[in-house]
Amino acid sequence: MSDKRYHISIIGGGITGLTAAYYLMRERDERKLPIDFTLIEASDRLGGKIQTWKHDGFVIELGPDSFLERKASAAQLVQDVGLQDDLVRNNTGQAYILHKNRLMPIPEGAVMGIPTRLMPFVTTSLISPLGKLRAAADLVMPAGNHGEDESVGHFFRRRLGDEVIDHLIEPLLSGVYGGNIDQMSLLSTFPEFARLEQKYRSLILAMKSTRPESDRQEKKKGMFQTLKGGLQSLVERVESLLPASSLLKKTMVERIDKNAAGYGLHLSNGQVLQTNAIILTVPHADAQKMLQPYVDIPPLAGTTPTTVATVAMAYPAEQVKLHLEGTGFVVPRKSDYTITACTWTHRKWPHTTPKGKALLRCFVGRENDQAIIEQSDEEIVRVAVKDLQRIMQVGDTPEFYIVNRIQRSIPYVVGHQQWLRTVTEKVETQLPGVLLAGASYAGVGLPDCIDQGKKAVRDVLRFVTNK
Ligand SMILES: Cc1cc2nc3c(=O)[nH]c(=O)nc-3n(C[C@H](O)[C@H](O)[C@H](O)COP(=O)(O)OP(=O)(O)OC[C@H]3O[C@@H](n4cnc5c(N)ncnc54)[C@H](O)[C@@H]3O)c2cc1C
Repeated sequence: MSDKRYHISIIGGGITGLTAAYYLMRERDERKLPIDFTLIEASDRLGGKIQTWKHDGFVIELGPDSFLERKASAAQLVQDVGLQDDLVRNNTGQAYILHKNRLMPIPEGAVMGIPTRLMPFVTTSLISPLGKLRAAADLVMPAGNHGEDESVGHFFRRRLGDEVIDHLIEPLLSGVYGGNIDQMSLLSTFPEFARLEQKYRSLILAMKSTRPESDRQEKKKGMFQTLKGGLQSLVERVESLLPASSLLKKTMVERIDKNAAGYGLHLSNGQVLQTNAIILTVPHADAQKMLQPYVDIPPLAGTTPTTVATVAMAYPAEQVKLHLEGTGFVVPRKSDYTITACTWTHRKWPHTTPKGKALLRCFVGRENDQAIIEQSDEEIVRVAVKDLQRIMQVGDTPEFYIVNRIQRSIPYVVGHQQWLRTVTEKVETQLPGVLLAGASYAGVGLPDCIDQGKKAVRDVLRFVTNK
């Protein structure tokens, strides 16, 4: 690396951009690199989809509420910024699936809906005897597709039949990914299942053999973690550690110009920021507009982005009567309910709710039913309460509520990996020093985004230090 100073821009202040800024700063300081950086965020707050609302003693997540502990990078970031003492784990408990207007327990031993224990699956009334017989065919069927991408729906339907998918797997998975599982790429969302089929042939046998011993113990610990002060406390801590001079909020990057010295970022404040390299963490539709003059990026096939709304409703505890143990339920797509899931948050995350109160968090907005999102907050709450009252005892009027509409990233459709390879290669050759990262690319979960932010830092440092 020459003695010249380099400037790196990070566009987008969601978790991916924040992670990139934080680890870039650390690397620079530890290795004493001649690098300046700027994190540019269009809105007046950092965090992107992460947003916590603290009100009346409640800690309410308006977007993501936790992260998978198993994917270590999120807990690592929490530790790196000194918030490890604030980590809390979810209370475990039975989760339910709505089936014929009743909450039915997800059969014990079902991993992502795939049966790994015989008895709970044989006795569940979620699946008809014929459906169970069809699922059991997995035990004798040969392995199918060898390494080609296919839809998640197609894969599971082929192995286990329609009923297990529609009644069990789809409601569990589409809660995480939000897309239509019959279009969603298996290799980009659950590649491990494709590998398991090749290795063990039968999915049921594979799940039995590969489930860790800890999962089989009766009293399991929660798989998710969050922070006592809400996920926004992580955002605020990272922000407080970054030099104020490296942050540009309320500033949108409107255009990127390639020039002899690198890139000129045309900002909404009228200025042009000259930079040597860019970590671009905005949703892909926005990235595409910025890069289009230089890179002919194939559009993401298939679906359009969907908007979901989280609907958090606070009640006096006596107005929410739950006769069942557990932490919440999901609703299959093929139902006449508008809500897609409900978490009994005061049970799953007791730190969020003051004593004597209950907190319910519902989701609305399916891929094929966006009309509800256009309704007023009052109407969304009315519909959510009406749905809940069909299955549990809930008061007509919450003490207070908050509705938050968020655009989900476009679901990864079949062929996503090939698409990503093409886009990455094109950007690498035509716009050297521009790195794409974030939920549109290599995983939507917070740890996936954190991993991508870290990788972008390694790549961008390789780019500038090789100059
Ligand atoms: C309802 C919902 C619930 C979820 N729950 C969970 C969960 O519990 N656990 C989990 O692990 N994951 C969850 N996810 C997924 C996870 O929250 C997201 O994938 C992740 O937060 C995305 O982070 P990001 O940094 O890639 O993008 P974003 O958070 O979208 O950040 C992108 C940022 O770029 C900014 N921006 C856009 N254009 C420009 C521009 N031109 N100039 C400057 N800035 C710009 C935006 O304002 C935004 O702040 C959930 C997602 C949703 C929608």
